[in-house]
Amino acid sequence: MKTRTYTTDGPTATRRLAAQWSKRLQPGSVVALIGDLGSGKTCFVQGLARALAVDGLVSSPTFTLVHEHAGRLPLYHMDLYRIGDPCEALNMGLDFYLYADGVTVIEWAERVAGLLPSHTLTVRFACGEEADQRRITMLDDEDIAWERCTTP
Ligand code: ADP
Ligand code: MG
Repeated sequence: MKTRTYTTDGPTATRRLAAQWSKRLQPGSVVALIGDLGSGKTCFVQGLARALAVDGLVSSPTFTLVHEHAGRLPLYHMDLYRIGDPCEALNMGLDFYLYADGVTVIEWAERVAGLLPSHTLTVRFACGEEADQRRITMLDDEDIAWERCTTP
């Protein structure tokens, strides 16, 4: 089991880490971002967007469920913070994005844990000891399977 945790010392480092990590992304990739408000999920997506040569500002799609960005690969950026239950996400078209042609990145993905494809890549975020530190853990496929079984 390969689980790697990185500590970043500010938003720039988090974006840089995301850009590095994004090399493994390909058409159809699904990325689940898990962590509290302010833990750096959207910041991480900004780093992915830069690496995918996406134009324009990347901000949380809080009121629309998804922002679509054109880039080297299409980037579908979802935020499920406000959904009530997985059915609501399905009704809003979640399935399309889980099996799409681009890279789908989902903040608060634990809300639809049982629906995520088995190839989903999971990244966890937590605050560190210092104010600007974030602990960012990349989980491999084995961890994702575990995740799907244990998240209600
Ligand atoms: P989330 O999407 O998880 O709610 P955001 O990425 O929107 O979080 O916000 C993270 C906040 O924390 C930003 O205000 C950012 O400037 C700040 N921050 C401080 N240190 C870091 C860090 N190491 N990585 C990412 N963001 C950080
Ligand atoms: Mg966010």
